[in-house]
Amino acid sequence: MRHDEFPAGSVWLVGAGPGDPDLLTRKALRLIAAADIVFHDALVGPGVLDLIGPETERVSVGKRSGRHSKDQGTIDALIVAAALAGRRVVRLKGGDPAIFGRTAEELAACRAAGVPVHICPGITAASAAVASAGASLTLRGLARQLTFVTAHASAGKPLDLDWRTLSAPDATLAVYMGRAAAATVARQLIAAGRAPDTPVLVVVNAALPSERIIRGQLFALSFLVEAVSDDDPAVLIIGEAVAAADGRSAKAALAVTAPSNASNPA
Ligand code: SAH
Repeated sequence: MRHDEFPAGSVWLVGAGPGDPDLLTRKALRLIAAADIVFHDALVGPGVLDLIGPETERVSVGKRSGRHSKDQGTIDALIVAAALAGRRVVRLKGGDPAIFGRTAEELAACRAAGVPVHICPGITAASAAVASAGASLTLRGLARQLTFVTAHASAGKPLDLDWRTLSAPDATLAVYMGRAAAATVARQLIAAGRAPDTPVLVVVNAALPSERIIRGQLFALSFLVEAVSDDDPAVLIIGEAVAAADGRSAKAALAVTAPSNASNPA
């Protein structure tokens, strides 16, 4: 640890990755080892939590879809109070802190209190999901845009996404918090013009021992997620790029993208 990397009274928002402790960065490991207190959410894998030393206080702030054990304002206040008390604070978040992680709020709370705060990135669920499935999120010539989208709607409100933009045939969608809304996502995308046979990948508990990979097509998405429990995190990946995972149209995809142009790897 660089001497000035983690002074007393400061906060690091640390990406814990999708669950497998081997997918932590070395920097995350160093920060966890140096922390006086770690606030973690429910999505942080047990193998990662095992890396927190016995001397380090460990506080679960357990956010989970539908049941938030602490609201965001309380979490912000806890982090700030610990730092103002002179402790080295790690806020450990599933995946990458910058993706659907309430990082902006925690940064703002620290800055408003004059607490130094930094971010250590992590591997996001979508990256882990396609890695496990042996697929890519982009595909040269066929999947040229990648959108991270949350399908978590505010209570009682309809899911209000820009379906026309999301239905572009060359778009890959990585849908977070999408299990409950899977039927709506499929219906709206198809209504907006997305092909019903667009390949989809549902990865449950990516990078955890209980990982499950479910493959199918967009029209059947609601059936594919039926067996996925609300308690298990699942990411939905929609788009031609994931066809490469089942070999079905990988060949067609490669044929379309040939001839290769080495100077343009995208
Ligand atoms: N910051 C996190 C995302 C937090 S939002 C990240 O970068 O990955 C929570 C959602 O992330 C879950 O509902 C699920 O859609 C997805 N997710 C997180 N961990 C996951 C995992 N191990 N497997 C599958 N999906 C996961």
